[in-house]
Amino acid sequence: MANPQTILDYLRQSRYLSGVPENKLRGFISLIRHETYSEGATVIRQGEVLNDVYFIIGGKVSAQTDGRTLYALGRIGDIFGEMGVVSSKPSQVSVVVLNELEVLSISAKSFDDIQQNNSHELSHIFYSWLSRVLADKLFLTSEKAKRFEDTSRELKEALEVQKSITHNLATLTAELEKSKTELEELNRLKNEFIGIASHDLRSPISSVIAVMETIPTCFELDAEVVEMLGLVRVTCQEQLKLVNDLLDVAQIESGNLDLDCVALNLKDLAAFFSQVGQKNAMLANSKRIKIDFDVEAFYSSQSEDLEGHAELVRFDAPKIQQVMNNLLGNAIKFTPEGGQIRMEAALLGKLLRISVRDNGVGISKTELPQVFDKLHRFKKSKPGTRGERGTGLGLVICKNLVELHGGNIGVESREGEGSDFWITLPLT
Ligand code: ADP
Repeated sequence: MANPQTILDYLRQSRYLSGVPENKLRGFISLIRHETYSEGATVIRQGEVLNDVYFIIGGKVSAQTDGRTLYALGRIGDIFGEMGVVSSKPSQVSVVVLNELEVLSISAKSFDDIQQNNSHELSHIFYSWLSRVLADKLFLTSEKAKRFEDTSRELKEALEVQKSITHNLATLTAELEKSKTELEELNRLKNEFIGIASHDLRSPISSVIAVMETIPTCFELDAEVVEMLGLVRVTCQEQLKLVNDLLDVAQIESGNLDLDCVALNLKDLAAFFSQVGQKNAMLANSKRIKIDFDVEAFYSSQSEDLEGHAELVRFDAPKIQQVMNNLLGNAIKFTPEGGQIRMEAALLGKLLRISVRDNGVGISKTELPQVFDKLHRFKKSKPGTRGERGTGLGLVICKNLVELHGGNIGVESREGEGSDFWITLPLT
């Protein structure tokens, strides 16, 4: 190539030389070399002093520092190498050819010559060229610095926001922790209060019940008066049940309920069920309901393989009796006259499973998941088929007592068809 006109045409394409009259540009042409480099070649080496200035007319280079690519140049008229000429210091970057490079180059020595020979015009063009290149690079650098500043400001703001969120979170957590402690203390005080109040209420109510039961046997009274005394007795019994239930809940919640577990073998178990059945028979009879539990059948069905076992299960008999009374009491309460209740017991793997099944009113799908839930139940105790009233706490207490034994409680029920409540207790 090296045709002066072509070189001139290329020089014209440089935005750094725009406005320089053609005749002045010609002065440069004698100093310019035309060179090509193949891919991978290193045009400038990092650490070397005094580079030439290269003017790209084709191909692409990348500027690298310690093997890291900083930027790439590839437009016609882009210039590299000028810093070496200006500073006379070792180059801070290597310039490596990315693809087939074609450049017009002016040697650093030529620039020295221009100055030394005092070629006024050429040094004027040279310095204005150089200053434009440098100004451009400075501008780009300041733009980058500005963007960096913006980003770091945004980052700082984000950090501030994050800091304040973290601070708020810490404050909230501390407040929550404080509220939790206060609530726990309030709950403890509530349970203590209920405990004391219930305890103090129990004996006067029990006395009233005893008096109501005794008066008709000691005095000749009108039937109307006897009926009224009976009403007072029933109401007092309901109150006593509520007081007892509240006392139980308070005791369970405060963690003060200690179990007094005893070992039961198969015979003891059969006796236990028989006792439970008998205790509830009178109440069931009053509604012509039969409680079905074949103690003999249970005993004989299990005894063969378990005869030698002295201890089959351990539980606090009065507490499990309380659970069974509640399940049977509910079954009687929610089964119409003439209905049927079946109590079943079976040893399943490592569990004793006891169930109480009735063919009473059953429980609706919406109510079913809430029957063991204290907050729900306390507001919504349903009267029995004869208007029997309850506290809504019975099943909550059952659940707690069974779980305290390491067991489980559950129910299957269909509205209008009946319910099947079951508990499981671990075998020893
Ligand atoms: P209470 O019987 O004092 O209301 P429970 O906790 O023992 O309290 O029972 C909660 C509720 O569960 C009852 O009000 C009733 O709606 C329902 N329930 C319990 N057992 C039965 C049952 N065998 N048949 C139908 N509903 C039942």
